[in-house]
Amino acid sequence: MDCQPNIIKQVYKWLLFDQTCWLCEEPSHGDLPLCHGCEDDLPWLLSHCPCCAEPLASAQLCRHCQQRRPHFATVISPLRYAFPVDSLLQRFKADQQTHYGRLLSHLLARHLQHAYAEGLARPDLLLPVPQANTRLRQRGFNQAQWLCRWLSATLELPWQRRWLHDNGQHQSQKKLSARARARNLRAAFSLTEHAKPGGLHIALVDDIVTTGSTANALAALLLSAGAAQVDVYCVARTAKIP
Ligand SMILES: [Zn+2]
Ligand SMILES: [Zn+2]
Repeated sequence: MDCQPNIIKQVYKWLLFDQTCWLCEEPSHGDLPLCHGCEDDLPWLLSHCPCCAEPLASAQLCRHCQQRRPHFATVISPLRYAFPVDSLLQRFKADQQTHYGRLLSHLLARHLQHAYAEGLARPDLLLPVPQANTRLRQRGFNQAQWLCRWLSATLELPWQRRWLHDNGQHQSQKKLSARARARNLRAAFSLTEHAKPGGLHIALVDDIVTTGSTANALAALLLSAGAAQVDVYCVARTAKIP
């Protein structure tokens, strides 16, 4: 089932706009509906953990990654999950205003192009983080698929929609040890019969990385099926809850 709304009409909506900043309504610049001031004021992710991208005072491995290195190699994110990115993402996901998602995907794609120019290895394939069918049916919208499709077009990288499956059986994680939580989460995802990750460098795509545990479970699954490396691309990274 493909629940995505008509992509063509909305994706390039801003190109039809009269170049007004969507955040302050001053004239925008360049090819984005953002003025210089608002773009500068976005909550850019500055120093962060080089592995999980947790915002930190200095660019060093965070405590969690030092204690137990995640299965993914690195999380790449241009922004912190803070105002106004949080409300743009909310409008994209909850209200299905895809032009806000398109703007955020453009910022992510531009960030990735810089990172590739600086030496980050381009993946062979993009995969959207899956959503349980029940959640997808309730909302009829998978933001990770939208982001993946846009990134694929901009970065000229292939993507696969149906390799990963969320079986929706996320058990309560309370009162479980970290190891048991990870095992639980890993059991919540599976590869479909279409999946052929053997030998591939894969980048998972999602809108937000919060604890990194979903990305870690999916990375473990892909690596156990023979993937060579798994990176994670997201629009925004939250600070970990202490
Ligand atoms: Zn502005
Ligand atoms: Zn970390």
